[in-house]
Amino acid sequence: MIDTTDVKALESQHVLQVYRRQPVIFDRGHGVRLTSDRGRSYLDFISGIGVASLGHAHPGLAQALAQQASTLLHTSNLYFHPLQGELATRLSDRTGLERAFFCNSGTEAVEACLKFARRYWFTRGETSRTKYVAFRHAFHGRTMGALSATWDDHYRAPFQPLVPGVRFASADDPEELEGLVDGDTAAIIVEPIQGEGGVRPISPALAQAIASTCRTTGALLIADEVQSGSGRTGAFLYSQTLGLRPDLVALGKALGAGVPIGATLVSSDVAKALSPGDHGTTYGGNLLACRAALVFLDALDGGLLDHVRRVSAHLMARLHDLAARHPTDIAAVRGAGLMAGLDLTRDAQPVVEAALDKGLLVNRTASTVVRLLPPYIVTTDEIDEALRLLEQAIVAGGSGSSGRDA
Ligand SMILES: *Cc1c(COP(=O)(O)O)cnc(C)c1O
Repeated sequence: MIDTTDVKALESQHVLQVYRRQPVIFDRGHGVRLTSDRGRSYLDFISGIGVASLGHAHPGLAQALAQQASTLLHTSNLYFHPLQGELATRLSDRTGLERAFFCNSGTEAVEACLKFARRYWFTRGETSRTKYVAFRHAFHGRTMGALSATWDDHYRAPFQPLVPGVRFASADDPEELEGLVDGDTAAIIVEPIQGEGGVRPISPALAQAIASTCRTTGALLIADEVQSGSGRTGAFLYSQTLGLRPDLVALGKALGAGVPIGATLVSSDVAKALSPGDHGTTYGGNLLACRAALVFLDALDGGLLDHVRRVSAHLMARLHDLAARHPTDIAAVRGAGLMAGLDLTRDAQPVVEAALDKGLLVNRTASTVVRLLPPYIVTTDEIDEALRLLEQAIVAGGSGSSGRDA
């Protein structure tokens, strides 16, 4: 058993204080459940922010990683290894995008998209096409490039000046988008479902405006599917559901099922503009990360994507029932598949904390939204159990919280 006081004291002295952690320490997991150091079990409906797609301690993944670790973990991109080509091929088969670049996080995948879009126009001699159009409430990550396309001022303000030339369009106003994209726009970057922005799928009208604006101006389309992609909505990419054909796609989160991996997928046209030395990474696409992603894709192929479609229909139906029972607390249910948001009529944090008290893990985004990103392996029984706890938390939340993890 861990000494809780030590864990918290050591962190408070020596870990950079950029996180506001919930007061619980997890040291084990199994399936959709996490166990705290005090032996209390929690139903995990956030899965490490959409990452633990196969749940915790998945036997097939554990075995494959152990075997990979005892064979070969890392060689860098100086040499070939057997797994990158296979993983890239399978991602290409699933998306129609010809080539993959592997990195270590969603932010890095976005960063590569932004660089590759610039490189595309540079290669074509259109050196003034350096600008980007992003959307209000967008979140693309925290490195300087990705942050420049992230909307919220509290992420941005302390780090100005950022990469210049990013303009923000309203996701609710297709005409504004058309006015902002011009012959200097390298790319439009969009989350098909805004995640941190409050679980907001873009409308069919906006999707259509994005597609037609790209067609008429030549601007490239970057789909940031770090959260919405890798099968979370029941389609491998949510942009496919919307009829969009992005030139570049950023993936991360669920793809490694808990092992850090990001991927930038690009069309053959974009790929042709890139040459050796243009971009790179030491860890990116190493054997451990590729093995994890291959196990994850095996699971999707083995029926998990169908399972996601089935259980997510149940989740959405139950969330709408919940909203109908609590119209004064819940303003809207949003999302697709296993990416769901309950937009409350008040701050969501007390509900998130009340849920933790009751043994359910969810989180807050965009102040008023309770976000649910359960593992793909979640069952309808676990969904029913989670929504019972969430309903209790909504009733209790607002009165503040006490004695968590007691
Ligand atoms: C989480 C997220 C990122 C950043 O991914 P990291 O792995 O945290 O670097 C980028 N874009 C979207 C849409 C995300 O949800």
